[in-house]
Amino acid sequence: MRVSPDLAKELQGHEVEFRGEIESTFLRSLFSWMVPILLFLGVWYFMMKRMGPGQGVMNFAGNKAKIFAEEDIPTRFVDVAGVDEAKGELEEIVQFLRTPEKFSRLGGRMPKGVLLVGPPGTGKTLLSRAVAGEAGVPFFSISGSEFVELFVGMGAARVRDLFKQAREKAPCIVFIDELDALGKARGMGMMGGHDEREQTLQQLLVEMDGFDPRVGVIIMAATNRPEILDAALLRAGRFDRQVLVDKPDLNGRLAILEVHAKRIVLSKDVNLRALAQRTPGLSGADLENILNEGALLAARANRDDVTMADLDEAVDRIVGGLEKKNRVINAEEKKRVAYHETGHALVAAFTPNADKVHKISIIPRGIAALGYTEQRPTEDRYLMSTSELEGKVQVMLGGRVAEQLVFGEGSTGAANDLQRATDLVRAMITQYGMGTTLGPVTYSRRNQPVFIPQDSTFAPPQAEYSEATAAALDEELRRFMEDHEQRVENLLGKHRELLENVAQRLLTAEIIEGKEFDELVKAEAAGDLPAPPPPLEAQAAPEQAPEA
Ligand code: ADP
Ligand code: MG
Ligand code: ZN
Repeated sequence: MRVSPDLAKELQGHEVEFRGEIESTFLRSLFSWMVPILLFLGVWYFMMKRMGPGQGVMNFAGNKAKIFAEEDIPTRFVDVAGVDEAKGELEEIVQFLRTPEKFSRLGGRMPKGVLLVGPPGTGKTLLSRAVAGEAGVPFFSISGSEFVELFVGMGAARVRDLFKQAREKAPCIVFIDELDALGKARGMGMMGGHDEREQTLQQLLVEMDGFDPRVGVIIMAATNRPEILDAALLRAGRFDRQVLVDKPDLNGRLAILEVHAKRIVLSKDVNLRALAQRTPGLSGADLENILNEGALLAARANRDDVTMADLDEAVDRIVGGLEKKNRVINAEEKKRVAYHETGHALVAAFTPNADKVHKISIIPRGIAALGYTEQRPTEDRYLMSTSELEGKVQVMLGGRVAEQLVFGEGSTGAANDLQRATDLVRAMITQYGMGTTLGPVTYSRRNQPVFIPQDSTFAPPQAEYSEATAAALDEELRRFMEDHEQRVENLLGKHRELLENVAQRLLTAEIIEGKEFDELVKAEAAGDLPAPPPPLEAQAAPEQAPEA
């Protein structure tokens, strides 16, 4: 109780009887301290008992991030299609995991680490599971990006825990997915070092060096950015064996489609080979997606089975983004897009060795593309000659040049074409030695991503050539582009009538199939090009009076 100091005096002055007592606060405050401490100790005791002997306080943190082994993985090699070479290389690992004694008896040393490299969605994760499934061993898996999110010190603890468990369960597989998230070269990137990541990586290296491969633990990892991995990871005794898991070719795509088609009710008209032919460059994951999307479309239409039309539509969706027929686009823009796409198509038609035009469309797809010209190679290609690459560049420039020819100026719509054409020409000069003034030399830049497009989050790659060469490269690049643009201009000028004709048709029909387009090209050559249908504005009542 608080009292004003004058109170006693005042009370005395008024002859009131009173007395004061000093209250003891000691016991009460002791009590308020003791209860939480006792409670805390109680909980502590309980936890310690549960953890059992030999486990310290530090392990408490490790346990939260506990990794469990998966046993009896059902995945087999037959579930992974189109990557026969990779399977062949992994077959040996399977044999070793089945009977490690047999291999170590003869003194053979198995690789400690196997790194699966390849573009996203090609089945690296799937393949690693198949190895565990085939060998019938436990499978510990963790993703490199998970480590990076952990608290300070946890990543390293987790790696330690992982390897401790793996040794107990041997023979087994430890799989680190997205190794690049963890194993980025140290000191790379703009943010400077990431201490936690580096510690974890260090711990991984220590663990990999520390165990005897004869115990039968195989470390597998997957990445689609091998070029940014820390060199220390790739040294002998670590991930010294690399297995390429590449995008499937025609037969591979067919095999993958067959694997996933098993669980889908297909109509008789479905031709998986034709589907495989339509999808060069797609990964296993994309193909699975197409079948799935096709099944969804069929279900939406209440059909009993999935038809070829569903799958065709699914390909269009996956490849070109979702169809957006109702996207509002003004008439002037639409006209521009029609001429632009026709420009691409015409250049393709008149360029020897260029891929055939399969479809021209001005239906906007996805967010970026207002129209597209789909070309299809007749076969898978692994090599390209100089003239083929030049043809590609010219087709890319076709849209832009057509716009300039018809409207007297270009537009922003051609930015992406220009970018791709420039990149290709730069590669021709700096990587393939196809330039004319700089000689048969590659002017490389370090750490270019091999499998996925370069992102901008990294510092620009360092050039390995002089300033003077850089200037000469720029000059050559410009000359090449101007030269190609001129050639495309000449070509489209010569076929101006066909350009108008096809573009007008495209404006009314929105889509022109490859067959119709070929016929128009032939008709032009024969000199009897049929007149296009009247423009839409003439058919419907015009909204605005045409300008004089
Ligand atoms: P990655 O790890 O290379 O990015 P994933 O293994 O995660 O690719 O593949 C994703 C999915 O795509 C798989 O679960 C599988 O269904 C399908 N897939 C990818 N590649 C193949 C393949 N070669 N054969 C069969 N299915 C595949
Ligand atoms: Mg994966
Ligand atoms: Zn274009």
